[in-house]
Formats: sequence, C-alpha cells, structure tokens
Amino acid sequence: MLLIRDVSRVYPGGVIALDRVSLSLAPGELAAIVGPSGSGKSTLLHVMGTLDLPTSGTVEVEGRDVTTLSDRRLAEVRGRRIGFVFQQFHLIDGLSAAENVATGLLHAGVPVRRRRALAEEALDRVGLSHRREHRPHQLSGGEKQRVAIARAVAGAPALVLADEPTGALDSATGEAVLGLLTRLNAEGATIAVITHDRDVAARLPRRITIRDGRIVEDVDGSHAPR
Ligand code: ADP
Repeated sequence: MLLIRDVSRVYPGGVIALDRVSLSLAPGELAAIVGPSGSGKSTLLHVMGTLDLPTSGTVEVEGRDVTTLSDRRLAEVRGRRIGFVFQQFHLIDGLSAAENVATGLLHAGVPVRRRRALAEEALDRVGLSHRREHRPHQLSGGEKQRVAIARAVAGAPALVLADEPTGALDSATGEAVLGLLTRLNAEGATIAVITHDRDVAARLPRRITIRDGRIVEDVDGSHAPR
C-alpha cells in the first residue's frame, strides 16, 4: 500500500527532519506514528501524503514511485488515493456538512451527482446523516471531526492520514473519534494516525515511534493476545 525506503528530508539550513526512514503499511493496517514534538512526524506525514518530496529515498503508493511523478500526476494520486484528517478539521464554514464532504471529492475527479451520493453515504458511515445540512459552526468539535473523517473516506482512498485527529478534542470526544477510526479500519480502511500522545498511540494495533527523525521502535500488537 505504502512503502517508504531510506527516506531523508533535509530542510534548508541543514535540519535533518527525517534520517533514512524505511516504513511499510499493508492494506487494512491501523498504525500510530508517535513521537515528541520536533521528532519529524509532520515531515513524515507530508512525505507519506505526497505533500512534500524527500531529499533522498523513495516513496511508493500502491506500487508506484511518486518521487518521479510530475506535479500534476502527484496531485492526482493525492486527490484520488489519499484522504487527510487534520487536528483543526479544516472544514469550509460557508458549506454544509454534506457540501464539505462532497467538495473533498472534487480532487478525486468524481462527477457532481456522484459526489453528493458518496458524501451522504460517508456521513451515514460516521453517524451524521442527521447533521447533513448543518454548517461547521453549528456542529460540536467531535461532530466536525467526524465530518472531516467522512470527507477523508468518501472517495475510498488507499490510505487515510490523520494528523493529531484528537488534538483539539476533549478526552471523551477524542476517544469516540478513535473508536470511529477503529471501526472504519475494521471495515477495510488503511489508516495512519500521527500523534504526540502515547495514550492515543496505545489504543492502536501498530505503534511506530519516531525520535530525532528516525524510527526507534515499531510494535505490531494486532496479533498479540489481549
Ligand atoms: P513534529 O511534527 O514531530 O513536531 P516536524 O516534522 O515538524 O516534527 O519537525 C522536525 C524537525 O524539522 C524539527 O527540528 C523542526 O524544527 C524542523 N523543521 C520542520 N519544518 C521545517 C522547515 N520548513 N524548515 C526548517 N526546519 C523545519
């Protein structure tokens, strides 16, 4: 699904944010990428999501090396195959929940009528059918994040990348959002959750720990006895 090989990302000025990182995510995985502030999580998320290219190394999405693609092809892969969830939701305030989800499908090249149908289906999956016509300011934080998750999964992407998805929520609401991601994963979505919160990471089957731009631990407890 996603294969990162020997990836380094050096920022201008010489900061080595990622130092020869290799990582693979198989279809159907739910993984946490956990580490303290400044460890390189955002940089890794950007590289995994094709928002940024590595200084060296390769990034394969579904077997295709994206580091050699043109910007247009890269945007296409990103729009069709990767869904993003952000800490601050990034919903458009003038649009209803359904329109927010449907707009996310613009970049996936889905025709307008189909966008609306997929948006309603995705809102249903996150339990928000009854909030379809609400604007973001009429929704609670947890509901906003569920709309953002609906937007991320509506186009059935290969991979969902969630950047601190519970960071702006109280713990009970954060817990519910993690529960939703876990359920969507059980239904087939491949998800990586970036977090600085070890408690959040502990809830997920696989935990990849990053420190100073390197993976220092990669624990897969998905087959471990409970
Ligand atoms: P995290 O998300 O874990 O907080 P980041 O990936 O944001 O870590 O940052 C990793 C390192 O790279 C930090 O030392 C940070 O200061 C540095 N860094 C991040 N973005 C830039 C940038 N655009 N230019 C220079 N240095 C950066």
